[in-house]
Parts: sequence; C-alpha cells; structure tokens
Amino acid sequence: MERIPDGPREMWVIKKAREFIKATGICSLPVDPAEVARRCGWRVFTVKEVARLTGLTRWEILSAGQESDVFYCNRKYCIVYDELSYYPRARYSIGHEVGHIVLGHLEQFDKTCLLRNNNLTALEYWVLEREAEIFAAELLMPLPILRALGRMMPELIKPEVIMKMCHVSLTTASIRCNEINRSFALDDLSDDDWMQQQFGTYLQVWGNFVREFKVFEAHREIAVARNDELDISL
Ligand SMILES: [Zn+2]
Repeated sequence: MERIPDGPREMWVIKKAREFIKATGICSLPVDPAEVARRCGWRVFTVKEVARLTGLTRWEILSAGQESDVFYCNRKYCIVYDELSYYPRARYSIGHEVGHIVLGHLEQFDKTCLLRNNNLTALEYWVLEREAEIFAAELLMPLPILRALGRMMPELIKPEVIMKMCHVSLTTASIRCNEINRSFALDDLSDDDWMQQQFGTYLQVWGNFVREFKVFEAHREIAVARNDELDISL
C-alpha cells in the first residue's frame, strides 16, 4: 500500500491514459467510455438501474452534487452514473470513474482500499479527483489526435468543433483548446506517432474531408473574385 501523493501526478496520469487507449484499441472519436469500460469487464449502471436492483433511492445511491461513483463488489468494478445529467457531463463522469480504476485509486492506497473517501483529507481527496479528471480529459480528447487534426486544419481547434467531435461540454472543450495550443507551443509531441497510427483510418477520413473542403473554399474564392470583377465592370 502506498501513500496518496501530495499533488496530482499529471504526466504519469496522461501516460496511463495513453497506455489505456493503446491497450483497448480505441481508434476514433468520440470515445464511448461506457462501452470501453464494459469491454474491460467493468459494469456500468445508471442510477435508475441500481435503484431498481437494490430498492435504494437516487439520493442513497449518489449524494447531492455527485454525478457518478465507482464501487468494487463481487470482485468486479461497478460504475454508477446519473443518466439524468447533461449527456456530455455523464460521459465525462464515466471517463472519470474509469480513471479511478485504471490509476489504481481503489487498490493502491491504504486509505482508499476500502473504497470510501471518509478517511481522506480534503487535499488527498482533491489529488485523486484531479487525477481522475486529467485521465478523463486525455481519454475523451487525446492530445496527439487533436494535434494531428490541428495540423491538418487549425480551424478545427475551436471549442465548438472539439465539443461536437469529442461529445464533451463547451467548457471542457474550451479548456482543451488552450491545452492543445500550449502543447504546440511547448513542442510536446510525445506519443503522437503510435497514436496517430492507431487512429489512422479516422485521421484519413478527416484528411479527405479537409482536402475537399479546401478545394471547395478555393473554388468559392475564385467565384467570389469573378463576381467582384463583374460588379466593377458594371
Ligand atoms: Zn472521483
């Protein structure tokens, strides 16, 4: 058993998320975290399903403000999420719980091995929560893939586009846009090669779309220019 770290292990968490993407063969966006979790043998339930199975109330299953949770029962991980929450938020919550499992939060630390957070300090709780958030961000919006798309067409790195592409909230997408631009500035291109290879077909489809779009734009500009000439001659 280990001690909970003093701060979030950002780089390590990103590495773990990318290893998870590699191991599970995720190769396109949007990532479906529930489907990936089920493929790993973990159960994913809605609060409604748990209520029906156990007779507990929604309030007893998830406390106020909580959108998801993860349990270890009958030697299986069970993720529970609030199906009534905003769809992109629910997806992010499942990704967050997958993060807790993959990062070993439920097994690795003596304070969390019994699964409940009752004996965590506020700082320890924050560290584990933050790590799960970093994991979810990389799982749903992998930087190496978004960087590849940004290189094809910088206009794709906009919150509205990332929101639709990754099925995340606009706020989450805005934060990610800043991180993508920062990673370009830092020239941090680790893991780009293998991940872009794994997402090869997906990136190829985007590549074709971008090429066709550029041809269309070029034709449109020519047409506009001709019209302008026409206006002048008139
Ligand atoms: Zn959490």
